[in-house]
Amino acid sequence: MNIPDPRTSPFPQEFVTRLESILPVESWHACWTAFRGCGQFGARVNTLLANVDDVWERLACLDVPATAVEWLPEAFVVSSQYREQIVGSDLVTMGHVYVQNLSSMLAVRVLGAEPDEQVLDLAAAPGGKTTQLAAMMRNTGWLSAVEPIRTRFYKLQSMLRQYGVTIGHTYLTDGRTVGNKTPDRFDRVLLDAPCSGEARFRWDEPKTYQYWSLRKIREQSRKQKGLLRSALKATRPGGRILYSTCSFAPEENECVVHHLLARNSAQVRVVPVDLPINNWQPGITRWLDKELHPDVVHARRILPTDSMDAFFLCLLEKL
Ligand code: SAM
Repeated sequence: MNIPDPRTSPFPQEFVTRLESILPVESWHACWTAFRGCGQFGARVNTLLANVDDVWERLACLDVPATAVEWLPEAFVVSSQYREQIVGSDLVTMGHVYVQNLSSMLAVRVLGAEPDEQVLDLAAAPGGKTTQLAAMMRNTGWLSAVEPIRTRFYKLQSMLRQYGVTIGHTYLTDGRTVGNKTPDRFDRVLLDAPCSGEARFRWDEPKTYQYWSLRKIREQSRKQKGLLRSALKATRPGGRILYSTCSFAPEENECVVHHLLARNSAQVRVVPVDLPINNWQPGITRWLDKELHPDVVHARRILPTDSMDAFFLCLLEKL
């Protein structure tokens, strides 16, 4: 395949310039290839309703060649040409398989929910990660899922039904209010924050990038800081928070974590994590002449490959 040339991209020039200063040069090719939307897609067996071996048999019957994912036994990747076939199959309609990017699955794995825990998904729709959390908890314990946008909230509810989640409690509300309503409550909190979605830009889908602007990034950053403060309040001492976005912008990533650490240094720490992949870089500690809290280096930036979208994740612990 030809290497896409960033100079001919339809994306805003300012986005391209910023991206080149954020991403290491070795990742540019993979990143621009990802923007072309080719490669492979990830999927996960929903162990609440299906068995991994049975799904592999069904894939063989459908003549869909799949590759197992070493670090997650229920995950597999498939070439994009089979996407429609999988999405339209009863594997998906019956809730046995969820099509999900590997980076998203990795984020939930890093948070690591356990059976019988109290878990909060603070920005949950459409519910991909909520269903993964429920599967890790084996449908035991308590799983709160929050979404303020009505249409997305209904989608979340129907997703939880379709994927057999019985421990889900859904709330149509702004996540920024949750910390004050339920302080010190949850063992684990996932904040997969609303963001500018830069890692999901696609060359041939203008709606993915046409509203991008620095102003929007600043707006998202403000909201993300409020959500992360709320997540910290809602977490019990000793509990963990996973903050993630699918954006490259440091304002939405390291700067949000910096903001929390700078104001709550006695209450929270960043947990360094070992990832089971090689395509990552540490968090950036300096952006636009601003020195960030040194511990943001323990955040992780997943670099794009032909089967993983770029992603930012940071595991935090409430002290
Ligand atoms: N975790 C989801 C998944 O894996 O399916 C994707 C979450 S998406 C990145 C972010 C979600 O946050 C969107 O559904 C968006 O509507 C929601 N959101 C926006 N503003 C919010 C707020 N103030 N509080 C909570 N959620 C919010």
